[in-house]
Amino acid sequence: MSGLLASERPLSAAYDVALMDLDGVTYEGRAPIEHAAAGARAARESGLRLFFVTNNASRPPQDVADQLSSLGIPADRDEVYSSAMAAVQLAVKRHGRGARVLAIGGPGLLEAAREGGLELAEDADDRPLAVLQGFRESICWADLTEAAYAINAGAEHIATNLDTTLPRERGMAVGNGSLVAAVVSATGVQPLSAGKPEPEIFRLAAERAGAHNPIAVGDRLNTDIAGAVASRLPSLHVLTGVSSARDVVLAPPSQRPTYLGLDLRDLAAPHPPVTHGEGWWACRGARARALGGHLELERVGSLELHDSVHVSVDEYRALAAAAWASGVRHCPRLAVVEEL
Ligand SMILES: [Mg+2]
Repeated sequence: MSGLLASERPLSAAYDVALMDLDGVTYEGRAPIEHAAAGARAARESGLRLFFVTNNASRPPQDVADQLSSLGIPADRDEVYSSAMAAVQLAVKRHGRGARVLAIGGPGLLEAAREGGLELAEDADDRPLAVLQGFRESICWADLTEAAYAINAGAEHIATNLDTTLPRERGMAVGNGSLVAAVVSATGVQPLSAGKPEPEIFRLAAERAGAHNPIAVGDRLNTDIAGAVASRLPSLHVLTGVSSARDVVLAPPSQRPTYLGLDLRDLAAPHPPVTHGEGWWACRGARARALGGHLELERVGSLELHDSVHVSVDEYRALAAAAWASGVRHCPRLAVVEEL
């Protein structure tokens, strides 16, 4: 068993709903990702429904849907599920419909709280039962302090997500998890989190989508794929975002995808089996193995001697299977290409 699954049919025909990540999968900041629109279109044509699941809690679903549509992936607001919506559902489950909460965050969080049937507190003096904390660029000391007052007075702290960083054009910016940490530092109370990698957001999104046999799609191992593993969902990892092929090959069991691809076109493609025999892991013509803790590719020899290696998608799959079966710790940078 390699941990990778095979599918003779395209994934888009084998599953009913794709729970898709956004940044690094369908777009990158404001820019489109190459082949994403074509892949999404092909997947939909073979019957897959796309449902967009994002840790971004600050933007209302309509904004996200408009952006997707402008990039050639037509989407409706009802096809977007955010960690703000998950945090609101979590608060309703724990405190009941109509519960008063202090929401610190962007328009997406305030809209989700109102639509989800929560009453919004003005400040800590309104005695909220919970503090919902999500990202907003203009969050300031006064907001964080109000959250701390409410939590110190007994309100439950619920974060939309705990991503410590936020990739921006100029580098890694301060993410919601870091702002939550400032509040935690003042209260000593650990928050609940609604976003990925918590399995709850996938379960709630699948329920909202009416999915019977969903597959998760993402670029980031420690959020998208970890969340899929924790919710026992199959997952497709694509190489258009944060986590690299090398990261995948070296991933711990809690962060291993079940299908490996380059980009969203792999959602509309079959996935060949990776088999084991005579010490080699084979995917169609590609063969890889681990010897004495080092990876070897039949075509190239030992990878230990290289800083970076160009490999085919099938070689990448065989390498991942070999590494996962033997606990390899070293792997060079892998440039995965369509054609060698
Ligand atoms: Mg992403």
